[in-house]
Amino acid sequence: MNKIEHIGIAVKDLEVSNKLFASLFGTAHYKEEEVGSEGVKTSFFKSGPNKIELLQATNADSPIAKFIDKKGEGVHHIAFAVVDIKAEIIRLKAAGFVVLNDHPKKGADNKWVAFLHPKTTNGVLIELCQEIAHQNPTL
Ligand code: ZN
Repeated sequence: MNKIEHIGIAVKDLEVSNKLFASLFGTAHYKEEEVGSEGVKTSFFKSGPNKIELLQATNADSPIAKFIDKKGEGVHHIAFAVVDIKAEIIRLKAAGFVVLNDHPKKGADNKWVAFLHPKTTNGVLIELCQEIAHQNPTL
């Protein structure tokens, strides 16, 4: 695993939180994207070399809606950049982690993503992400 790619924060109202984080970082979000398969609307901020992803549920079955019901707003996941997400999934499963996605799926911001169940990572939802190659958009 390489550097932290971004930190995901679950929010109730993306518009309200966009204003809050724009005020915190002194700069507006640079991107908004809806990921239909996850039932989320996301926005992305940069603060120096760091990237923050805000996530708002778009339906009641969304994992973000369930998270907020249980825990309220707050840090939802930490995403790590990986070079070869398929190899990392195999390596981590062999090491005993519960990987929620046997096959990486398309996430926000042009990434292949897979998640590790928090029960095997001390309660922290970990996201693996690999940039989708422009010249080869399949895995
Ligand atoms: Zn994320």
